[in-house]
Amino acid sequence: MLKSLLRSEGVVKLEHLRRGNKALIKDLNRALVLHHLRIHGPLSRTDIATETKLGLSTITKITDELITQGLIREVGEGDSSGGRRPVFLEFIPHYGHVVGAKIEKGQLVLALTDLEAEIVAKDSIAFPVGAPAGEVLALLADAIATLVQKNKALIHRWLGIGIGISGLVDQSAGELVFSSLLGWGRVPFREILSQRFSVPVFIDNDVNTYALAELSYGYGREADDFLLVTIGAGIGAGLILDKKIYRGGFGGAGEIGHMVIATPGNPCYCGRQGCLEAHAGEQFILSECKRILSQEKDSLLYNERLQLTMEKVLKAAKAGDYAARQAFYNAGRNLGIGLVNLINILNPTTIILAGEGMVAEEFILPGIKGVLPTNFFNRFHPEYDLRVSRLGEGAWEKGAATLVINELFKAPIYQGQKTVLSGIGN
Ligand SMILES: [Zn+2]
Repeated sequence: MLKSLLRSEGVVKLEHLRRGNKALIKDLNRALVLHHLRIHGPLSRTDIATETKLGLSTITKITDELITQGLIREVGEGDSSGGRRPVFLEFIPHYGHVVGAKIEKGQLVLALTDLEAEIVAKDSIAFPVGAPAGEVLALLADAIATLVQKNKALIHRWLGIGIGISGLVDQSAGELVFSSLLGWGRVPFREILSQRFSVPVFIDNDVNTYALAELSYGYGREADDFLLVTIGAGIGAGLILDKKIYRGGFGGAGEIGHMVIATPGNPCYCGRQGCLEAHAGEQFILSECKRILSQEKDSLLYNERLQLTMEKVLKAAKAGDYAARQAFYNAGRNLGIGLVNLINILNPTTIILAGEGMVAEEFILPGIKGVLPTNFFNRFHPEYDLRVSRLGEGAWEKGAATLVINELFKAPIYQGQKTVLSGIGN
């Protein structure tokens, strides 16, 4: 009885939606067509009809509108054998541009990208480490204005600002809650930048933005569930579950650097002991190298053991130095332990490693690969896909830009902010 009631209520609601909101249905179909063209294009109208399961006449109407608006265009002709040749349609990435910015310790890195997150212009501005948020935000606003102004000849439409930042972010409010890297508390980025710019502003944790870039433009395109793990001074993860970013209760999901992997363990800056970051981050590699050097007097690094830097350790590892290679290997093993814990909890199909620490990938990967098969599932499902991100230079800024791009192309029912692509050009 209850089931049939719920079922009929569902039907009523759907009918209501179908009859009562034609404009919404039109927007949804339009978003669907655009999505297919962006992700799988170039496609013929028949291809789109097949993939979206919409009628050919609906597709023709929508694509004609999108052509008039300048969002898509006809390209080439397919090589069909005989008869009328199908015309292909493709998305026009330079329909609009967005600004993607990453706030690093002591530096702002900005990129102007098209709607496929291809970088068309870049800029970076240094600021004193420890500078207050207000000062840096004013600097960021000036840098954004300058970047847009300098490139105004190639920008048809400026559609938004995306910001990636280390720390806890309240995405819906558009504000930073806390960043230990920068030493900042609550900073209302959207509110402040919206006073100066009339485009929508989005902010997210920087590792999440990287994971979004992987999902849209990297190896993540091939996986429904993957972990993007960034390795450097800190260690973090973006969790993509069922093609969506998982943010947790208040945006804190993915703080794997503070997963405890050893008791008793090395002290961590967070105040506890045994955190993954304290066993696999840069500081660990340096102290581990120093520890090994106390027994390796033949090492290339022995005379420099009191002034070790990551550059020196990496150089020595490349020259075949045992102490340097062993330090990276041990960090890799510890990282592997952390990854096994994550695999056991989340059962991802793919793990993508990224971040500046990956310059040493050839020395870190063997340690990781040695431990990864100890995951719980290995007995009956020994396959896992471990990759190193190939998004290349500018990946973080691309990720920040992707925040805006994803929002622009979301189906209307999911859109959070009012400024949406369906409203532009109409
Ligand atoms: Zn910690």
